[in-house]
Amino acid sequence: MNVMGQGVILKDNAIVLRVAPVSNTSRMVQWLTLEHGKLATLIKGAQRPKSAFLGQFDLFYTCELLFYARERNHIHIARECAPLTRRERFRVDWNAAAAASYFADAAARLTMPDTPQPALFQLLETVFDELAAGGATESCVYWFELKLLEALGVQPRLMVCLDCGAALLPATRQPSFVMARGGLVCAKCAAQGGGGEPVASDALAMLAGWQTSGSLRAARLTQCTVRQLGAMETLLGRFLQAHLDLQLHSRAIALEVLRQRAPVDA
Ligand SMILES: [Zn+2]
Repeated sequence: MNVMGQGVILKDNAIVLRVAPVSNTSRMVQWLTLEHGKLATLIKGAQRPKSAFLGQFDLFYTCELLFYARERNHIHIARECAPLTRRERFRVDWNAAAAASYFADAAARLTMPDTPQPALFQLLETVFDELAAGGATESCVYWFELKLLEALGVQPRLMVCLDCGAALLPATRQPSFVMARGGLVCAKCAAQGGGGEPVASDALAMLAGWQTSGSLRAARLTQCTVRQLGAMETLLGRFLQAHLDLQLHSRAIALEVLRQRAPVDA
């Protein structure tokens, strides 16, 4: 098979976002790469018993990928691929896999071909590693969403009043959330026409704490009530829609799975 001449060979670290069958044996793989942004590669004969690609890639793996870059479209030809991190938990833990599916879907929607987004790549690496090590809870989804918004420069402002700058935590001051402005105003400014809608202050305090944490563990270890989780789901869901135009079915599926199969409280 002569695939030389189809473009230069490039090498990159790449996270598998999606694997789609093209035939019985060939696969289209969508990757988030460190240096080349989102890209797709065709892997011909990937599932044949003697294929060099067999077992070398799967959903949510990070791989070293060599590919022939084609200029005409964004579907490149994979030349070699070797797993760097396999994250086997995603093959056996449906909670973790449901969360990772949503995160991969969000990353795919929010990235472009040929546009590196190293902060987003690093976030996905971190969150996949942590899910693979310790599993997923509903609160992990909201931690990821906070970090996703931060990586894209539109994080919710949860610490101080947008109008007067007054500190709003500890959250006893009944702040209002102004969705269009992406943050909170204090009760005094809200009364003076700052607008907004009331949000449960205990849920806000948890989110504000997770914003300052670089690890998913902070969210996984927080004991949240059903009411607090519901407040986070609504606030962040509306925020993602308002500021990133992101409303994904995979989010609803992940949250449904994580609620049905949540570990029983002691
Ligand atoms: Zn204020």
